[in-house]
Amino acid sequence: MPDRPALLFAANWKMHLGPGETREFAGKFRAEYAPAADRETWFFPPAVSLEAATAAFAGLPRTRIGAQDVHWEPKGAFTGATSVFLARAAGASATLIGHSERRHVFGETDEETGRKLRAALAGGLQPLLCVGETLEERERDSTAAVVNRQLNAGVRELDSAELDRVVIAYEPVWAIGTGRNATPADAAAVHAGIRRALMGLGASASRILYGGSVNATNVAALVAEPEIDGVLVGGASLDPEGWAGICSVKRER
Ligand code: PEP
Repeated sequence: MPDRPALLFAANWKMHLGPGETREFAGKFRAEYAPAADRETWFFPPAVSLEAATAAFAGLPRTRIGAQDVHWEPKGAFTGATSVFLARAAGASATLIGHSERRHVFGETDEETGRKLRAALAGGLQPLLCVGETLEERERDSTAAVVNRQLNAGVRELDSAELDRVVIAYEPVWAIGTGRNATPADAAAVHAGIRRALMGLGASASRILYGGSVNATNVAALVAEPEIDGVLVGGASLDPEGWAGICSVKRER
């Protein structure tokens, strides 16, 4: 098997940790975490904490700060929204796109997700596109259809170089924040389908993360799957020592 890409550990802080708490978190995390060549750590703080995170994690190797969402327009009358350029000015170099809470709580459509993804690429932010089925869709056996629809809406207009810059997170909605998670083998099977679809569109080196109730107990089995290139984590990323432990997990080959 060819060398795997660096494992990616991405922390989605959702609507938690303001600037002061971000600085405190970073101090504790940095005291616990030893960066290594085979892994990256990405942090997605709330927009108000982007600048604090950028400063607090500065100099930590293979680390990125990202926005949780961006608008597709570069500027204008969009109260409450963050543009790609505003996120970059605050230090972001990546952004989540189409997180399930954006889709299901805020009603974001596939079409809007696609516009955001293209705006991120055009403006110089590396997109982390989230896809995943609801419990009802899973029970109807529609996982592959839903994931492919969301994927296509995001990436279908991209060229090969752009496709390779998009990181995908497969996050079954029923597993997010619920304590339930897909088995490593189930997740790997969905990842394999996503990888095939991306290759079919011209990608050559896609990174595909798993997300949904990942914690210190289940992370090793997940990243041991060759199809799983890392994890996107909500709840368990809010504790600095616990998160440092997750980011340090040994990868079984
Ligand atoms: C997420 O927010 O993307 C997520 C996977 O949350 P949790 O780890 O809490 O399930």
